[in-house]
Amino acid sequence: MRYFMMLTLCLLLTGCISEPEIKIDSIVNGDIYSSDVTIHIDENQSDPFTLLLNNHPIKNHHVITENGQYELTITSRHFWKEKVETITFERDDKPPVVPAFYPEIPSMNFKEVSFQLIEEKDVTYSATINGNPVDLNQKFTEEGTHTLVLKATKDNGLTSSRAYTFIIDNQTYSKETISKFLSFYFSDDIQNVYKWTEPIEIYIHGKPTAKDRSIILSQVASLNELLPIDLKVMEGKGENRTALSNFRIDMHFVPNNRFKDFGFEGDLVTHKGEVVGLAIPTFHSVGKLYKSEILIGTNTPQSERETTIFHEFFHVLGFYAHSDERSSILYPYTDTMLTKLSDFDRKAIEILYRDDIHPNMTKKDVENVLKVRTIE
Ligand SMILES: [Zn+2]
Repeated sequence: MRYFMMLTLCLLLTGCISEPEIKIDSIVNGDIYSSDVTIHIDENQSDPFTLLLNNHPIKNHHVITENGQYELTITSRHFWKEKVETITFERDDKPPVVPAFYPEIPSMNFKEVSFQLIEEKDVTYSATINGNPVDLNQKFTEEGTHTLVLKATKDNGLTSSRAYTFIIDNQTYSKETISKFLSFYFSDDIQNVYKWTEPIEIYIHGKPTAKDRSIILSQVASLNELLPIDLKVMEGKGENRTALSNFRIDMHFVPNNRFKDFGFEGDLVTHKGEVVGLAIPTFHSVGKLYKSEILIGTNTPQSERETTIFHEFFHVLGFYAHSDERSSILYPYTDTMLTKLSDFDRKAIEILYRDDIHPNMTKKDVENVLKVRTIE
């Protein structure tokens, strides 16, 4: 009879016992954590348990500080009932690699830009151009200067980004203009591109007339409309300036018999006339001009000064050749009395000062850059 009672009791108990309870509140199955993970089981609300992390026993409140894939096995008991629960998760505190394109986006483009993203596993990418979301699988064709922000988001929620600036410029040039530019600009003496890349300060020395000063100001204003960098006439002589700010043109108004003091070794008077002005563009660093001098003869009649000053300005911008066209400011004689640039002069400045024509480029390099923009 007693035996029978025991069995009944046992059956009753078995029927009433609930599943073991485990209250884990720090990790979720399948999640990725980008910082330390503390395994925390609320002991007040849980039945007795043991923990295995990647098959090694650990204690409650264990802190995971290393990146990796983890499997936590929780075995809990309530009387004779046992429950095994497995949670897998990852700790990864590495942000995605800074996103990039290969090939890189050229800073200057013709008609369109396409994007070849370098993709990393478990990372999603998004991009905006000028603040608007874009699909990187599509070509971008809007003319102008654009800022692209590329953002990488890893599955751990960490991000990294990179910004690019690029230009789409659809300017074309006739075959004739390009070949004229190339044969005009390059010679045996000039085999590389020389140009200014920083704003230029202009200092005036010697004895210019009031008229000379106003000529300089108006010519600087018209050159500034054509150039991507600023020319600025400075007050004072600028002798105390540091070498770093020395992107400068010094204009000396002196009698031409003093030109020799500035290094001129030629004859002042030739069978073609007298030397009225001179440009001494001696200083450059791999094609980047940083210092030039202009000499204007104060014995030059005022009527010829405007042509002379403009001519010398044009030389120091990087044009060292002379033109045999009388309409060009680079025609070597002042009897043209020119006070304006010819259409070709303006085109020549435009081409030389394009963003994609870099200092020190060879004739071949320039030809290659312009090839895509050539029209019949
Ligand atoms: Zn000249």
